[in-house]
Amino acid sequence: MTFRRFRILILLGVLAAAIGMTWLEQTLVRGWRAPLDVAVIPINGDGSEQAAGTIRALQASDFNDINVFLQRETARYGVKQQQAMLITLLPELDKKPPAPPHDGSVLKTIGWSLQLRWWVYQQSGQLLPQLGKIKLFVLYHAPQDGIALEHSLGLQKGLIGVVHAFADPKQAQQNNIVIAHELMHALGASDKYGFGGRPVYPQGYAEPDWPEHMPRQAAEIMAGRYVNAAGRVVMPPSLEQCVIGAQTAHEINVDAGFRQQYASSN
Ligand SMILES: [Zn+2]
Repeated sequence: MTFRRFRILILLGVLAAAIGMTWLEQTLVRGWRAPLDVAVIPINGDGSEQAAGTIRALQASDFNDINVFLQRETARYGVKQQQAMLITLLPELDKKPPAPPHDGSVLKTIGWSLQLRWWVYQQSGQLLPQLGKIKLFVLYHAPQDGIALEHSLGLQKGLIGVVHAFADPKQAQQNNIVIAHELMHALGASDKYGFGGRPVYPQGYAEPDWPEHMPRQAAEIMAGRYVNAAGRVVMPPSLEQCVIGAQTAHEINVDAGFRQQYASSN
């Protein structure tokens, strides 16, 4: 065998292993048979003292309402678990993940997502990839008037979320909405909002059976916002006012997970 052929064979092997691991990982997390294994890794997003202070004060329990939300909502689809997820808060990381390309070309985006997965693997400090562990990198920024945060994102391949959050205790509950949204992306859910952040009717609405124009007081998690009585698109104050809609439930395999459980117990 020539060296060239050997090299191609090795590359194909690596590719097959990567595809196999992605498949295995998705089967593990989307089976809904065991609590999700979630690691939160805080990062100082802007080098500010405010972000540093917020990170110093962080506790794993600050993310409890994500667990409560996930448990409440998956239970509506029949999943019965003591805990929906186990959250570990890892020490602050002093590096930032590679930024996504701005022009959004397909090739650049593919290249960047591979780069991000490689970066995450390097940060883990482990030789073998941590199968089934969802890694959420939360970059804290001091709030500045009129300046929006960069877009957060969640990747299904590699189970990675990169969340931009406000370093402000008053924002903690809304930060958890953004974290839960990206966690859902990692599990395979798609966005349900359109232009201007407006929820898509009906799948992006809580109470999708009601007429579109009726004001809501809760949001579908993948829309992240709802239209209130004044006709404005607003973010709910906390995950208590968020639901997992039927389409999202299907995308993250909660409904199938329930059917399997039911079938195996009969
Ligand atoms: Zn999204």
